[in-house]
Amino acid sequence: MKMNKDNKKKYNENQSIFKETIIVGGGASGLMLASQVGNENTLILEKRDKLGSKILASGNGRCNLTNLEISNSDEILEAFQNMGLFTKDINSWVYPLSEDAKDVVRILKYKLEQNGVEVEFNEAVEKIIVVKQAENFRDMEDINPQILKDVTSQCVKDINSQTLKDINFLVATDKKNFYCKTLVLATGGKSMSKLGTTGDGYKFARNLGHSIKPLIPVLTAIETKEDMEKLSLIGIRQKVKVDLRYKADLVASESGEIQFTKYGLSGICIFNISRYMMLPKDKNLKNGFDDYEISIDLIPEFTFDKLYDIFDKRLSDDLIYKDETWSSQINDCKEIENIVQRLLCSFMKFDIAVQISKKVIKDIVDNRIVSKADFINLIIANAKEFILNPKGVKGWEFAQVTKGGVSLDEINLEAMQSKIVPNLYFAGEIIDFDGACGGYNLHNAWDTGLKVAKALKQI
Ligand SMILES: Cc1cc2nc3c(=O)[nH]c(=O)nc-3n(C[C@H](O)[C@H](O)[C@H](O)COP(=O)(O)OP(=O)(O)OC[C@H]3O[C@@H](n4cnc5c(N)ncnc54)[C@H](O)[C@@H]3O)c2cc1C
Repeated sequence: MKMNKDNKKKYNENQSIFKETIIVGGGASGLMLASQVGNENTLILEKRDKLGSKILASGNGRCNLTNLEISNSDEILEAFQNMGLFTKDINSWVYPLSEDAKDVVRILKYKLEQNGVEVEFNEAVEKIIVVKQAENFRDMEDINPQILKDVTSQCVKDINSQTLKDINFLVATDKKNFYCKTLVLATGGKSMSKLGTTGDGYKFARNLGHSIKPLIPVLTAIETKEDMEKLSLIGIRQKVKVDLRYKADLVASESGEIQFTKYGLSGICIFNISRYMMLPKDKNLKNGFDDYEISIDLIPEFTFDKLYDIFDKRLSDDLIYKDETWSSQINDCKEIENIVQRLLCSFMKFDIAVQISKKVIKDIVDNRIVSKADFINLIIANAKEFILNPKGVKGWEFAQVTKGGVSLDEINLEAMQSKIVPNLYFAGEIIDFDGACGGYNLHNAWDTGLKVAKALKQI
């Protein structure tokens, strides 16, 4: 791989360069594609000064690269194994054997180097123009005359007439014009722009005639109306089952670890649920999520009935209940709080049990609960339906993935080729696909990269 860092640029500023294939974006999909089919006539244009930024950030630096539940995960694993990357799975989530994302990027870079693929760093593509196939660009009347003038004069100056007929695209960065026969847009999504993904690809695709499905940040944390600082829950993690409801209807359900944070909730199952929290069309960000509700089952391992039996027995052993009604000894709220905390403490983190005990007290006072049965039911209801009210989701700078993108109806999904523009291909998150946590998004990047590679091999 001929990598041209800023300090040793291969090409002069203002020079025009022709390459058979240009891949815009040196991320997961672009690298997979170049590793399979790239050669010295392949050029990757990368906006950042490094390749695979999101791969490096993925899976907390461990890179959860695919999932064995996906039907063609074996094809991805085979492609990696052929390059020398061995993997392991943890409950079907696949990681490199070393559990180090850097190794995934290293392996891909070695392969690019072997193939002689060229990479230009710090080249942010700004404009893409379809150059009609013509000997000397004379039938490009629909293109801005100034650009036409630039294209023709540059081409004639820098590109020999042999390659002129092969030019289908002008790919302009802020510094240079690049020309190619085949163009692959592998610019990723719009989330975490600090990693290079600013949604440029959607703009290019739209300008080239493609429609873009609405873009929404997903796999992100959820902000709640409840103040976690006041509830003293910040930093607490708990294995739970979470239900997301919209107007009381169940929308999504996930199990796993949640984390209480300064602004609300985080954790893999919260990220997955964020994929279903859509702002209703007629609502704005201020109160748009009012009809959603998050219900957390803090003791998913036990059914309601089983818990009832356990608590009933423990309270019977306790002297506070003489019969089925409150004993006179526990008219004191503090005492009730203590009982609830004592019952719940081995089932959940103590700070959460404290919050539930406060809720129980409030319900007791509000509803004048006196019987033991009602008391137990109340504790279990609060523990199995700990309700929080979402205020919104953390936005683009926090989200891992973009929902929406280039409409799949306009792409031949076998080859990932545009149905609108000849010789144009798409790979990765730029298309209208988003998956759950667990390797589904990187899988999409590798898979679409491989599909483009296969299609290009057949040309
Ligand atoms: C923190 C984090 C953790 C994640 N963890 C996982 C995980 O464990 N498993 C999983 O499956 N998925 C994970 N994902 C999602 C996954 O990383 C992405 O879906 C995947 O990288 C998308 O691949 P891509 O090739 O489409 O785009 P990217 O890998 O994002 O690459 C796009 C590249 O294009 C470049 N680019 C953009 N615009 C231009 C331009 N105008 N000119 C030149 N270059 C440009 C960017 O700089 C970038 O290098 C994670 C994402 C994040 C943010």
